[in-house]
Amino acid sequence: MQKAKEKSFYNFALLGFPVSHTLSPDIQTEFLLKAGLKGAYSVIQTRPEELFEKIRALQTLNFTGANLTVPHKEKVLSVLDQLSPEATLIQAVNTLVFQEKEIIGENTDWQGFLESLPENLRSPADKRAKIKACVIGAGGSAKAVLLGLLETKNLAEETYFLLRKSPRLQKNLESLELIAHKKNKSHRLKFIYFEELSKKRDLKRAEFNLVVNATPLGLAGVNQDLCPIDQDFLDSFCSLATGCYFYDLNYKPRLSKFLELAQKNKQAITNGYRMLKLQAEYAFRIWTGRNIKS
Ligand code: NDP
Repeated sequence: MQKAKEKSFYNFALLGFPVSHTLSPDIQTEFLLKAGLKGAYSVIQTRPEELFEKIRALQTLNFTGANLTVPHKEKVLSVLDQLSPEATLIQAVNTLVFQEKEIIGENTDWQGFLESLPENLRSPADKRAKIKACVIGAGGSAKAVLLGLLETKNLAEETYFLLRKSPRLQKNLESLELIAHKKNKSHRLKFIYFEELSKKRDLKRAEFNLVVNATPLGLAGVNQDLCPIDQDFLDSFCSLATGCYFYDLNYKPRLSKFLELAQKNKQAITNGYRMLKLQAEYAFRIWTGRNIKS
């Protein structure tokens, strides 16, 4: 990655669909102010068929960088000239850097997720304490979550994924396996399908201390009333010894159905706002060379 060039004005954008819920402009504007830099962050609603044309337009208009959100993080790979090692591994890009002749793809979601984990999971006082995680979903953010978890060094020998069967699935499973293989050859991934959930007694006994919703189920405006698991499973998922941390990557509404259910069960919860802010800090650093700590 080349060193970021100092500019008199920075233009950034977010491309996604839907994007009306985003908090990224507020966050990046706050960073520009903190760093004493001039710039603007625009939100550009972009349907899948418009993605490539809009990226080329941003490059022509001399934008410094852009963020990508659902549904573009994987589709974008085919128009990029270079990928960072992490974006290559995850096969998903959330940050673009426009250089004179090249467009570079980065992934800062995995760092945002890793740093947003609470201290007792990320670096527990008891070094034998392990993260036993169940991730719901297998898309771009689930892959970033897996990479983040594998970087914690205190991950249990296996990570579970709760999935739906779909045409996209096979490719995503291969990507997840590749990430695990590259980072820790002995780490096992266990794939469980919603359709089989009621028969999976081993899942009930797994006793997770971290359950991550990496699906759009619960997201404001689109799937707000939906929850990826029901009360029965939520109860049985939790580790009796340590309790369980329920993490919803979605941050709007602040309390999704998933988090509401967990909170009613007296479990610890967090939404994706902290992750959003942290991944934004990394993107800002790549674009401007400035280190913001919020
Ligand atoms: P993807 O579309 O790449 O992946 C979504 C996953 O959820 C896929 O496995 C998908 O399955 C599954 N899924 C979708 N609908 C359903 C359903 N009805 N039932 C079961 N599974 C379903 O999206 P991302 O991974 O990029 O994002 C997921 C969510 O996380 C989004 O809402 C996004 O806004 C949020 N996010 C938040 C971030 C933050 O910083 N806080 C960062 C990144 C994402 P299939 O492949 O079959 O479609």
